Amino acid sequence: MHDVGVSGDRIARIEPRLEGEAPVELDGEGRLASPALVEAHIHLDKVNVWPLLPSNRTGTLAEAIQLLHRTKAASGVDEVAERAGQVIRRAVLAGVTTFRSHVDVDTIGGLRPLQGVLKARAEHADLCEIQVVAFPQEGIERDPGTAELLGSAMQEGADLVGGMPHWEVDPEASRRHVSFCFDLAERFDADVDMHVDETDRRESRTLEMVVDETERRGWGGRVTAGHCCAMVVWEQEYVDRLLGRMAQVGVNLCSNPLSMVVQGRDDLEPRRRGIARVKEALAAGVTVGTGQDCVHDAFYPFGAADPLQVALLQAHAAQLTTSEEISVVLGMVRESAARVLRISDYGLYEGARADLVVLDAESALDALRLLPSRRWTIHRGRVVSETRQEAELHRSRGAPIAGCPSRSDLPIHKSLSPVAHSPQAR
Ligand SMILES: [Zn+2]
Repeated sequence: MHDVGVSGDRIARIEPRLEGEAPVELDGEGRLASPALVEAHIHLDKVNVWPLLPSNRTGTLAEAIQLLHRTKAASGVDEVAERAGQVIRRAVLAGVTTFRSHVDVDTIGGLRPLQGVLKARAEHADLCEIQVVAFPQEGIERDPGTAELLGSAMQEGADLVGGMPHWEVDPEASRRHVSFCFDLAERFDADVDMHVDETDRRESRTLEMVVDETERRGWGGRVTAGHCCAMVVWEQEYVDRLLGRMAQVGVNLCSNPLSMVVQGRDDLEPRRRGIARVKEALAAGVTVGTGQDCVHDAFYPFGAADPLQVALLQAHAAQLTTSEEISVVLGMVRESAARVLRISDYGLYEGARADLVVLDAESALDALRLLPSRRWTIHRGRVVSETRQEAELHRSRGAPIAGCPSRSDLPIHKSLSPVAHSPQAR
């Protein structure tokens, strides 16, 4: 049990008992204090369009992209900002203080999706930080005009260059797509985060192109490959070699386990589920984060913008169930995700940024098992959300009490762990 003292936007001290008074004192009552959660891969421009569209009947990625043309063409900047804001606020309540959002840039929506997400980012700058990726969802050569728009997107405020190389018509075009994205990244001194091999097709090999280009440009540590679904059907020897190169060159993996609902739709059982080979990537030394991807859109009807829910699904998809693996999977929405986003001062240590979440749980296992409420989210030393959840059983008269504890009997309330703000904090 420890107290955490915050001064300004930093964690000042962590000790068993801090003396003195602070302007703001939070009594954690034994709850689990954690570094804030990181949403490493989301599409804020598309969130919550589900009610605006017909159902995705085939359930495939291709139909989802096609359906989304309607909302992309029709959505104005304010509407995108409104939908993005709904999910940003929900995620902050779930403990997220840093996001990386891909945003479509193409000739259908132009720069409106980007402008909408930038507006939402500005409107929520007191709650969280959002990295924006200029993402050519429709391809670059397949959608003439996108190359120029990507340059404009970077000038307008996108932070990273995205990509979708497997969406081009052939491997040569895919390689040119990757090369173009790295050219743009060099021009703007930006990191790269691409959608890579988000398909069941065994012959899709654009991850290797991304690794090649990262090595050639010396961009190691600044590149992330998302989804990587085709990896599940590649030959073992090829996977082993490529994962080794990813670790060596410095290409991160962002697994998106919810891709499982769109991949393998045409298969008979056993179906390919498009789950990146997370265990093997971890064993090879690759930095692996995991991200929500979609919230209530044409790809995915569900989604609570809660990284713990995603981590729980990731644990199922990658069969991460030992105590050590449970810590690792929680790290995929915390420390490892922070490395993917290159948040340098992230963590629960003295001197780190004071971005914290306090959970109604005692352990990492319970954080995933119970998906508990988040008592407080703290961003840069300020409490930005507070959740009070009460539940009560209504027993029938004369029912025995044993074996059915009231909420106050649960062990999470048995002791105190204040999270205190030092006098310098606001
Ligand atoms: Zn995605």
